[in-house]
Amino acid sequence: MKKYLVDPTQKITLDHWNPNDNGGIKNGKKMTRPLFAELNQELERLQELLYAQSKHKVLIVLQATDTGGKDGTIRHVFDGVNPQGVRVASFKQPTKAELAHDFLWRAHQQAPGNGEIVIFNRSHYEDVLVVRVHNLVPRNQWQKRYEHINAFEKMLADEGTTILKFFLHVDADQQKERLQERLDRPEKNWKFSKSDLNERAYWSDYQKAFEEMLSKTSQSWAPWYVIPANRKWYRNLLISKIIVEKLQRLEMAFPDPEPGLEGLVIT
Ligand code: AMP
Ligand code: MG
Repeated sequence: MKKYLVDPTQKITLDHWNPNDNGGIKNGKKMTRPLFAELNQELERLQELLYAQSKHKVLIVLQATDTGGKDGTIRHVFDGVNPQGVRVASFKQPTKAELAHDFLWRAHQQAPGNGEIVIFNRSHYEDVLVVRVHNLVPRNQWQKRYEHINAFEKMLADEGTTILKFFLHVDADQQKERLQERLDRPEKNWKFSKSDLNERAYWSDYQKAFEEMLSKTSQSWAPWYVIPANRKWYRNLLISKIIVEKLQRLEMAFPDPEPGLEGLVIT
């Protein structure tokens, strides 16, 4: 998994990762189905422990270009996981109240509590992405946000939050295909927004913004992973594996039962 980790000390460019990467697995979707099912079951088990123990907090951040696969990742990776203790927070255009506060205010409110896994579908990173690309605040303001984000995430980590951040890496051709599919398939029409076409025109500005975000905010306490995401099955497999391995390292256990339960028989 190391090869997908953004080294905290390096300035990176996205061409380092191939969006078509499939790990060299032929017929991968079919071949990896059993492995994916196993990982999914293990995630279910770990989430149950996390919830029962109510000691750790887990934050998963998903960022990507439009059609990058954030929604599909959530649907597949968390398939069958008990919704009790798992929550998705989606970050849309800020409301008036949100705009009246600092950019981290709404993110902090959604941060996980003990025993909880929270998935950020978009996040505070929009404030150095869309905000930067469209000059929604002046440059000297968003430039300082990398530092604020690092400090914020360090604080969450010091207070017991495990943070994993995934950038779903698709290329422009893949986006074209997926946008077209949203137009062509009636059951996908709802996902199409004309504004996505407008955003697509800013493709290279976004790539630059992603690269700077990844370079400046991958930290040992909150690492970024660049996930090749043209192939959905590979994207899901990698993300499942990274989350499962991370949760396993927490060495969780069910809490001790109340004293005096031994030998109790219900009559
Ligand atoms: P979607 O995730 O497709 O529902 O779209 C949400 C939209 O909200 C995207 O176009 C985001 O770029 C936009 N958005 C999210 N956060 C912000 C923000 N902080 N400022 C401006 N736009 C945002
Ligand atoms: Mg959208």
